[in-house]
Amino acid sequence: MTRATLYGWGRTTASIADVVAPTSDLEVATLLATSNEVIARGLGRSYGDPAQLSGGVVLDNRELGGIGEIDEDGVVAVGAGVSIDDLLTLSIPQGWFVPVTPGTRQVSIGGAIAADVHGKNHHVDGSIANHVLAMRLVTPTGAVTTSPTEDPSLFWATMGGMGLTGVATTVTLRMTRIETDQVLVDTERFADLDGVMAAMAGGDANYRYSVAWVDCMTKGAHMGRAILTRGDHALRADVEKATLKGPKRPKLAVPFDAPSGLLNPLTIKVFNEIWFRSAPKHEVGEPQSLSTFFHPLDGLRDWNRLYGRRGFVQYQFCVPDSQGATVVDAIKRLSGSGVPSFLAVLKRFGPANPGPLSFPMPGWTLALDLPVGPSRLPGVLDDLDEMVIGAGGRIYFAKDARLSPEKVRAMYPRLAEFLEVKNRVDPEHRLTSDLARRLQLTGR
Ligand SMILES: Cc1cc2nc3c(=O)[nH]c(=O)nc-3n(C[C@H](O)[C@H](O)[C@H](O)COP(=O)(O)OP(=O)(O)OC[C@H]3O[C@@H](n4cnc5c(N)ncnc54)[C@H](O)[C@@H]3O)c2cc1C
Repeated sequence: MTRATLYGWGRTTASIADVVAPTSDLEVATLLATSNEVIARGLGRSYGDPAQLSGGVVLDNRELGGIGEIDEDGVVAVGAGVSIDDLLTLSIPQGWFVPVTPGTRQVSIGGAIAADVHGKNHHVDGSIANHVLAMRLVTPTGAVTTSPTEDPSLFWATMGGMGLTGVATTVTLRMTRIETDQVLVDTERFADLDGVMAAMAGGDANYRYSVAWVDCMTKGAHMGRAILTRGDHALRADVEKATLKGPKRPKLAVPFDAPSGLLNPLTIKVFNEIWFRSAPKHEVGEPQSLSTFFHPLDGLRDWNRLYGRRGFVQYQFCVPDSQGATVVDAIKRLSGSGVPSFLAVLKRFGPANPGPLSFPMPGWTLALDLPVGPSRLPGVLDDLDEMVIGAGGRIYFAKDARLSPEKVRAMYPRLAEFLEVKNRVDPEHRLTSDLARRLQLTGR
């Protein structure tokens, strides 16, 4: 066991814990039995504090490895500590892609199910839980195999349960068949937010993958101008030379913390202008590699250091379909405040799954990266919280570092259902985290 300072990806909330990396179900069970307070940690890509526990024990999941054979239906058993990067390195050459991927490959399978991650295909394929057939889960009251049919309430509470129901050790997933390592991408530029939202609402169903980058620094007629990219896996017949190559390794890294003010309204405005103008106005069927389309940020290692020592917060919310006006109001509030947002990503969500804490709901989701620093930032985010609650929406735990217990209860009306399952498998309340303490998700 080593004592370590742990952060989330946004580097805003550090805390010190004893870290240990178990290698088997038995070691996990022993650690759960002998630690007063404990939580699992994957690759630390959550932005806030769910994978850290001040003064407690943190189980680094990276030694829970192993990737089984991928059968002819794409079914594979994967150790919870395996990263999506490692899985894709093995699976793409065999013609399989992960059914759901977040915007980075550097997440573990355990972290992915704990957050019930979504990708650019939620409107078609749902979130990762929809593709999990079974999972081995070590809880404080014993190790179990759980699935949508074996103790379903535990299965669904674990999907999006942020590690608070147990430590997943092996996850059985169904992968997606691919014929090539390319995606055929259509790109369109929109001069304002209404235009891009209308195109997404009307046309996303024709694509498996869809995402829009939105400029939150422009005001007036061009508020929320956007670049929409949508695509589908290329078939062999679609490309000149069909290959199945694994992910590209990053060649560049940010070697040290940038000065904290580097990303300020001026630099972000300039970046956004260049970014917007460099996208084609309208392009159809451009072949892009899987890495370029799904994981562009992975091309630059440690890019979170660009935000400097003060770090950054990510604010991601979703609202029901009928509340698209909230997206417009939120961007108006942000662009009017002068608080800079470096990356703003808009997606559509399809039907929710049964997980009581799973984030997606049918409608819209907007994710904003916001450098810490401007004194107006906390007030702006409080306003956004009220808009989201008023619209019947919610904030994503995997990105959060600042919500309150009261707001969470307004956003997640099925929380009591989750806590009932947690208290059943963890009656002594051993599984907890800095996030669980902050938001009163410990079950006490
Ligand atoms: C650049 C970037 C882009 C992203 N894009 C998206 C996106 O498009 N969609 C999306 O949904 N998310 C996205 N995320 C968020 C990310 O997918 C989640 O935060 C994910 O949970 C991180 O996995 P991790 O392995 O780093 O887990 P950590 O951040 O280390 O932990 C996350 C949670 O998982 C729990 N956990 C870890 N291992 C286990 C285990 N074995 N058993 C039980 N619980 C466990 C932890 O306790 C914690 O609560 C993005 C993050 C980054 C940095």
